[in-house]
Amino acid sequence: MEENKEIKPLNFIEKIIEDDLKNKRVPDDRIVTRFPPEPNGYLHIGHIKSICINFGLAEKYGGVCHLRLDDTNPEKEEDEYIQAIKSDIRWLGFDWGKNEYYASDYYDRLYEIALRLIKEGKAYVDSLSAEDMKKYRGTLTEPGINSPDRDRSIEENLRLFQEMKEGKHPEGSYTLRAKIDMASPNINLRDPALYRIKYATHPRTGDKWCIYPMYDFTHPISDAIEGITHSICTLEFEDHRPAYDWATEIDGIEHTPHQYEFARLNINYLLMSKRKLLYLVKNNYVSGWDDPRMPTISGIRRRGYSPESMKDFVQRVGVAKVEGVVDYALMEFCVREDLNKRAKRLMAVLDPVKVIIDNYPEEKIEYFEAVDNPEDENSSTHKMPFTREIYIEREDFMEVPVKGYHRLYIGNEIRLKGAYYIKATSCEKDENGKVSVIHATYDPESRGGETADKRKVKGTSHWVSAKYNIKAEVRQYDKLFKAENPGMSTGNYLDDINPESLIVISDAYIEKEAENAKVGDYLQFVRNGYYCVDSKDSKEDHMVFNRTCTLKDSWAKQKAKMGL
Ligand code: ATP
Ligand code: MG
Repeated sequence: MEENKEIKPLNFIEKIIEDDLKNKRVPDDRIVTRFPPEPNGYLHIGHIKSICINFGLAEKYGGVCHLRLDDTNPEKEEDEYIQAIKSDIRWLGFDWGKNEYYASDYYDRLYEIALRLIKEGKAYVDSLSAEDMKKYRGTLTEPGINSPDRDRSIEENLRLFQEMKEGKHPEGSYTLRAKIDMASPNINLRDPALYRIKYATHPRTGDKWCIYPMYDFTHPISDAIEGITHSICTLEFEDHRPAYDWATEIDGIEHTPHQYEFARLNINYLLMSKRKLLYLVKNNYVSGWDDPRMPTISGIRRRGYSPESMKDFVQRVGVAKVEGVVDYALMEFCVREDLNKRAKRLMAVLDPVKVIIDNYPEEKIEYFEAVDNPEDENSSTHKMPFTREIYIEREDFMEVPVKGYHRLYIGNEIRLKGAYYIKATSCEKDENGKVSVIHATYDPESRGGETADKRKVKGTSHWVSAKYNIKAEVRQYDKLFKAENPGMSTGNYLDDINPESLIVISDAYIEKEAENAKVGDYLQFVRNGYYCVDSKDSKEDHMVFNRTCTLKDSWAKQKAKMGL
């Protein structure tokens, strides 16, 4: 990673920071960034980009990154979200130390600033309804119109604002607005609202307040109070920058932070709006925010993605100012690259059919040594028990082979991975004509997978002892949406939900070694994909494994070529 950093060209934010540092524009040469989530939902993959940028820059330039919970919307915010946000950031490997702040910490300070603005004639209490306020605001091409309340006296403004605070007026009856310019070409400067009345209990301030400050007022002032030097956000806030600058230039605010915008991360096949994700959770389209199909950090973690692979992914995507859509395949590529290096290989048979090796002694057990990770020269190994009865994948046997089929069929010899060569002799079928047992013979000379005569076999199958194994539940996860742009064709993203996004296999057989797998381990079931132990539902006597992702598509292609 270090080497990479040296040769990578700087992104536009790094250039700004290096220039600021060089020209001594940063107090104490110490940059301060912040990650400011609103605790109204769980963090998603898009947030990973913002987290990596903010915490990453602080790390790179020896500064600090604050965690600021932007909690100014009490109706939608919950403590559960705050706890999840914190554990998700820690999972990514970032630490804010003591710098945990809440916008609600600044309510007193914001209130004082609002009072001062009123006293200086720079803010007024407006009684326009929300609807009228919108009408008076004008459009991109037309200037707005002054509210009839704009010239209310300072005394009256002070009295009304006080009454708003004391709960004497209903929601929507009054708003405190900044007096800036109703004809400004930037709509966000047309007397933006500073405070609204809201009778809601706040998770942190309880019922102390019934007026709450607006985002465009709270955010810049919170940044200023915390001494943020570089306030980095997504492009949709570009139009708000003049309002940001207005707020940080209010008299009496000692520090002037600056806002910089970058393009948000969008990925095809995924939805990353908290509102839509909340809808999926509330209406049971998924099992919760941490459903392994959710693009939330808690979802991908339960799915088995590693934090390192996601950091690698956002690094590859880069930081730019142009919006685009990143390919889901790039993300999975990063996930696989990483898992390939670290996953412990195990054999699992997901669609089992029994093989009886008739010339193998009934009570005999042999142990074959399997390398945990062939990508690692110093890999540890584990033992696989081999017995007369084993399971192989149903698709690894054909009674009558199609052309080009090299796996097991009657009369054909294959290699059992890491064990013996076997040759099928006959099969039994159930009343539906489905193969229930395959009979085979093994060549004792082929122990370990080779023979003295070095004869070649074309097929290799993975296998699990039918006597010593773990019977487990395996959840085959796939993309939650089957369309690249969910909702695009019908206008409703629910129409694009993939009905096969979860297929549960209740009776898979996994080699005995699987009983040592723990939550957080990265596994590969040979030929089947990458897997992990489910953190919620897996129990000692009923293990549950989640498919993280399939192996490279080459396997799917190979299958297609054979017409299977
Ligand atoms: P939503 O609009 O879905 O409610 P949000 O963007 O408003 O989500 P916040 O909690 O306000 O969610 O976001 C915290 C920070 O993360 C903000 O600085 C925001 O710009 C950034 N962020 C959110 N989504 C993305 C994304 N897709 N890519 C990069 N950064 C993002
Ligand atoms: Mg937001």
